[in-house]
Amino acid sequence: MHIKTARKVVLWSMILSVAFAVIGLVFFEPGTVASLYVTFAAFGLMLVSIIVLFTLCRCPWCNQRVTHGLMKAEYCPHCKKDFDTGLKYKKKKK
Ligand SMILES: [Zn+2]
Repeated sequence: MHIKTARKVVLWSMILSVAFAVIGLVFFEPGTVASLYVTFAAFGLMLVSIIVLFTLCRCPWCNQRVTHGLMKAEYCPHCKKDFDTGLKYKKKKK
């Protein structure tokens, strides 16, 4: 999986996990079967996002894990290569 796809999965599974948790708290009585399902869904999605974050969010070029600044990173913090092109990142002169 490409790192940009992986971070979208991480982002959306986290958003959905929080959404499920909120839905569970607002709409369902605690201790009911429905609230149990929603809690499981929230925990499941949180688990998915963590697993994807730690296993699939890797640089395609040097295979180092990228977690810091992942959501907006355009290039690898380890080898400084662009995720898409593989070209060395150069700081633009202002
Ligand atoms: Zn890299």
